[in-house]
Amino acid sequence: MLFIIRDLRSARHAKTAKYMAEKTFEQQTNISKKCKIAEKDKADKGVSGNELYKDLNPTQWPIVYSPNYNISFFYLQKLHPFDSEKWGRTVGLLLDSGVLKNENFIAPVEASEKHLLEVHTQEYLDSLKWSWKVAAVTEVPPVALLPNFIVQRVLLKPLRLQTGGTVLAGKLAVDRGWAINVGGGFHHCRGDDGGGFCAYADITLSIHFLFKNVQSISKAMIIDLDAHQGNGHERDFIDNPDVYIMDVYNSGIYPRDVYAKRAIKKKVELRHGTDDATYLALVESNIKEALSEFHPDIIIYNAGTDVLEGDPLGNLAVTEQGIIQRDELVFKSAREKNIPIFMVTSGGYQKRTAKVVADSILNLYNKGLITSSCPELQSGL
Ligand SMILES: [Zn+2]
Repeated sequence: MLFIIRDLRSARHAKTAKYMAEKTFEQQTNISKKCKIAEKDKADKGVSGNELYKDLNPTQWPIVYSPNYNISFFYLQKLHPFDSEKWGRTVGLLLDSGVLKNENFIAPVEASEKHLLEVHTQEYLDSLKWSWKVAAVTEVPPVALLPNFIVQRVLLKPLRLQTGGTVLAGKLAVDRGWAINVGGGFHHCRGDDGGGFCAYADITLSIHFLFKNVQSISKAMIIDLDAHQGNGHERDFIDNPDVYIMDVYNSGIYPRDVYAKRAIKKKVELRHGTDDATYLALVESNIKEALSEFHPDIIIYNAGTDVLEGDPLGNLAVTEQGIIQRDELVFKSAREKNIPIFMVTSGGYQKRTAKVVADSILNLYNKGLITSSCPELQSGL
């Protein structure tokens, strides 16, 4: 009997998911009509030129990805706990689900030195021309032994492409209300230095370009839920009243940056082994408080999945379902307040991470929190 009830429940669940998917598909059929209005609105939002900004074509969703995100050479991926092909694996799973097709993704433009200099010092960018420095930033010691032209091509170029992806996601969130960069989230990198596998300050750069190129955006909120403290963007925006930072992290692990903590407006420090119930309750109540204290024009969500139980670096105990619920909660909070949101995937160091990220994106889709159509909040921007 119990099995029958469970089966009925799961059948009902599948039916609901199917209904939601169909409903979303119906909404998609209005893409071109709605998005033409959005194009017209763009002038009001004051989006000006930037080589990293692109418009979506009618088949594309605001999901940014390029196969060139992935780092795979000389077994480098085996020298670091970081799964350097997780971005491709995530997209593979999204394609397998049948919800997304290749033509639905938008490819970014690689951030060039000219773009990077908007927030980085010349001295720091020049230092990356030394392989030993790149080895230190990425925490892969053997990289120090490679000629720098190889390091640039196979390691830094994909990271610059992901950085361009985060900048593009910021612009697409303004256009569509939401966007996801399948990569990015290098939250330990700041304008004058990198670290913790973060070579470029993509979060800082995306906010910098939004403030510079989009008239309607002058206040931003960073919600950083990676297991580690986001000390890079914190140091970049320290004492900046236009950027509100909420950071929920394990205080017992890297980077323990006391100076950067000054920049956090909503700080939640977790203990080793924090579980779903504690974690989700803290995230929910603190997002609520953050959004009542500050009214941003845009939210950048650093959705690290290294909070997952068993992660060797995060040291927390959040389950896959907990992460899915967390991401849903963040998108729901933004939607309730009509604030555009863009997500970057940041840390997550296990082989099963890609599946968690893909399942979470599919859940956002099934819940109607992301759709390929232009959402109603366009008019509210
Ligand atoms: Zn992390």
